[in-house]
Amino acid sequence: MTQVSNRINNLAPSETLAMSQKSGELKAQGIDVINLSVGETDFFTPDHIKDAAKKAIEDNFSFYSPVSGYTDLRKAIAEKLKRENNLDYTIDRIVVSNGAKQSVCNALMSMINPGDEVIIPAPYWVSYVEMVKLAEGINVAVTADIEQDYKITPAQLEAAITPKTRAMILCSPSNPAGSVYGKEELKGLADVIAKHPRITVLSDEIYEHINYVGEHQSIAQFENIRDRVAVVNGVSKAYAMTGWRIGFIAAPLWLAKACSKLQGQYTSGAGSVAQKAAAAAYSGDQTCVAKMREAFLRRRDLIVGLCKDIPGIKANVPQGAFYLFPEVDHYFGKSDGDRIIRNAADLAMYLLETGHVATVGGAAFGSPKCLRLSYAASDEDIVEAIARIRKALAVLK
Ligand code: PMP
Ligand code: GLU
Repeated sequence: MTQVSNRINNLAPSETLAMSQKSGELKAQGIDVINLSVGETDFFTPDHIKDAAKKAIEDNFSFYSPVSGYTDLRKAIAEKLKRENNLDYTIDRIVVSNGAKQSVCNALMSMINPGDEVIIPAPYWVSYVEMVKLAEGINVAVTADIEQDYKITPAQLEAAITPKTRAMILCSPSNPAGSVYGKEELKGLADVIAKHPRITVLSDEIYEHINYVGEHQSIAQFENIRDRVAVVNGVSKAYAMTGWRIGFIAAPLWLAKACSKLQGQYTSGAGSVAQKAAAAAYSGDQTCVAKMREAFLRRRDLIVGLCKDIPGIKANVPQGAFYLFPEVDHYFGKSDGDRIIRNAADLAMYLLETGHVATVGGAAFGSPKCLRLSYAASDEDIVEAIARIRKALAVLK
């Protein structure tokens, strides 16, 4: 008999982290694997941010931090929200957490009662649905396929709403599809939400700065729903700080207080040194952000160009984030003579084991026909990885 709780038994492990771990294991065996699985930049954290962390250590920031985060960091976040998003938040509405991942989970645990429905546009980031399950909520996926550039319409949103709908999670720029909702598109969704006062929108804007089509738009900008939007963001992607584990939520006061209460019992304040580094990221020079975006744009163009004429790969041109999310179902049912590729997970495993390129199958993102490739890798790695993928796919008959 297993001793593990039903809660954990029912939880799927993170597919993104699992594939990345598997690629690490193969690398440790001396195999030259190119890891396009996990969404993590290959850049180093900028020096001025590292310097702030070193200073924090020297200055003995070694004690527990306030549960919601240091005041100076929350002020820097409030200023960032004003400066970049024209949003007004007092610092009592901002809670700093151990990565945006914890911010999303805090919010769901704070809002969802058993049986409450959460609308999640699919394809979605793998962790949303598992977090909703942890909160004993019900996932309601609303699917947008490649023909609609993986973006849901207001009519689709309206049709998914029931008296049990409590929240909606929006992710723009999106992981895994790279779609970016424009202002008018967001307004259309906001107008639907405005008619349903029970619904809170969780707007995950972690890829805000990795946007190739113009200024970032937040759904929090619309007056008619502003008091029901919680914005999640963090330093992982914009400042190449995935390992520092700092994210935040800027939320209605009731929700911020609930997140802080939960965090106070669960993890306490986020790491003190990392918070000081994050404060430097938000209040310091922002040219590093623009430089990294430029590199991602170049890599986006590179990977789109390289994949364009691979038979059976159908991709959109991502407008943000750093993922390509092509349909690959053309290969389902084919074989290399040894094994049959039944689905995207099989294809990802085949590409890893024979081509030595790590990707992630689309099922965990709610799109079983697709495969996710992260292009937050060096240009050389992208070129080599796509050559290997092309070669491995050509074998399948
Ligand atoms: N949201 C999305 C859509 C993501 O892709 C990630 C990736 N890690 C996160 C949230 C969490 O980011 P972190 O916890 O590193 O801040
Ligand atoms: N968000 C990244 C990804 O999707 C990092 C891994 C994770 O936290 O899931 O790959």
